[in-house]
Amino acid sequence: MAKDYYGILGVSKDATQDQIKRAYRKLARELHPDVNQEDGAQERFREVSTAYEVLSDPQKRQMVDLGGDPMDSGGGAAGGRAGGDPFAGFGGLGDIMDAFFGGGSGGAGGRGPRSRMQQGSDALLRLELTLEECAQGVNRDVTVDTAVVCDNCEGGGSSAGSAPSTCDTCEGRGEIQSVQRSFLGQVMTSRPCPVCRGFGEVITDPCQQCGGDGRVRSRRTITVKIPAGVGDGMRVRLAGEGEVGPGGGPAGDLFVEVEELQHERFVRDGADLHCHVQVPMTAAALGTVVNIPTLEDEEELTVEPGTQPGTEYVLDGRGLPKLRSNGRVSGHGDLHVHLDVRVPTKLDEDQADLLRQLATVREEEQPEPTVSAGGNGHRNGIFSRFRGFGHR
Ligand SMILES: [Zn+2]
Ligand SMILES: [Zn+2]
Repeated sequence: MAKDYYGILGVSKDATQDQIKRAYRKLARELHPDVNQEDGAQERFREVSTAYEVLSDPQKRQMVDLGGDPMDSGGGAAGGRAGGDPFAGFGGLGDIMDAFFGGGSGGAGGRGPRSRMQQGSDALLRLELTLEECAQGVNRDVTVDTAVVCDNCEGGGSSAGSAPSTCDTCEGRGEIQSVQRSFLGQVMTSRPCPVCRGFGEVITDPCQQCGGDGRVRSRRTITVKIPAGVGDGMRVRLAGEGEVGPGGGPAGDLFVEVEELQHERFVRDGADLHCHVQVPMTAAALGTVVNIPTLEDEEELTVEPGTQPGTEYVLDGRGLPKLRSNGRVSGHGDLHVHLDVRVPTKLDEDQADLLRQLATVREEEQPEPTVSAGGNGHRNGIFSRFRGFGHR
């Protein structure tokens, strides 16, 4: 798992370098093994130091912001790369970033020929899911169109029976050295060989199937397991399901990003759901029972006599599963039901008479509106006139 480096230092995601440095210094002073003998202090000190090392380096910080972990060298230390777990080791992105930033072998130009084999890039796929699917989790077959190893040359790039030959221009070194005159005197510079592109060898007889790239595009269908509780924008990582690299290099990862479709009844807020239920004014005054559809079935909601507009009911545990960053679910959100009271708009003469009679009985023919600054207004102002409507 990618560590929460921001959390370890106690800074926000948009903290400046200055704030990060200050937070680190403060913690380092408190936790330094020379001053702090408490259990676990040393461990914390190490954590804090690592977090600072990562967040003070713009490139590493960027990886973190992209969901990766620059300190995860690919398993080992981080442990927990359980097979099949879609969130397994969100780390390894470091490798991919190397591919992005041209790191790895031979990026800077100047340490012998670079390997033709390079890390493949990762792929991103968007998946539309209904709220119900997000709540329950789903297995979905997706078609991916990525680069795979060319089976004709097995990634080597040469046609059958032929092999790459050493580059004449650089004599296999992959780089060309030249002497330049500058105000400092003569400076030796080296740059990647343009003929072999730094590989030190040239494919003289390219594979006909892949043209020498060592990989071909292929369409395949894989099953993506989306865990319960995902939300809009969350990504599930399928390690090694991205593009194979040039020269048959290791594949990148496939990220499947959830795009949650709007629901007709519910608005989602994290693991909580919100919905509105409308009852007529008379029902709010007299009390009623409403069937509230939930994600799974429905639930009876008792509206007590004299319930005010805007009243909010919380149905515990009727929201979505709470998906933690470790990929596990702990607990459920709630369903918040907001009560809207409908005031009749088209009264016929009889109905109007009845309401007038009611107003007379209640001595409300000429109500005096109360103006107040009272919060949400439900308990104050003109609504207080209706209080106790059904209690008589
Ligand atoms: Zn090939
Ligand atoms: Zn060359």
